[in-house]
Amino acid sequence: MNRDEPPSEPRPPLETLIGRALRLRCPRCGRGKLFLGWFRMPERCSECRLKYERAPGYFLGSTYINYGLTAGFLTTAYFVLHFGMGLSNRQLTWPLTAFCIAFPLAAFRYARALWLALDCHFDQSILADES
Ligand SMILES: [Zn+2]
Repeated sequence: MNRDEPPSEPRPPLETLIGRALRLRCPRCGRGKLFLGWFRMPERCSECRLKYERAPGYFLGSTYINYGLTAGFLTTAYFVLHFGMGLSNRQLTWPLTAFCIAFPLAAFRYARALWLALDCHFDQSILADES
């Protein structure tokens, strides 16, 4: 490819990809839904036919995002509630345990969507892939 030629298709900037992920939409077209239910993803985008799961285990990386978000919120909540509001560890054990169970389930779709968006940002050949 000649470096002086403009790309054949405009590549969405990172903020667009993140915005589409937070709306649970296809990173390439922004129209197709990423999920059919809470946990079920279609194989391809209904609008542009982008294949979501590129390989078996592709979304394993999204667990790192989910874990990072959970750990970040948990740590922040602990410091605010324990050191800021003076709640004891005994008082915090069950609410924070419940948070550690509920939050990853609630964030599951967003973690996958963000993983796909970040992958599209760093490997933009995905966006041009027609397979
Ligand atoms: Zn699409």
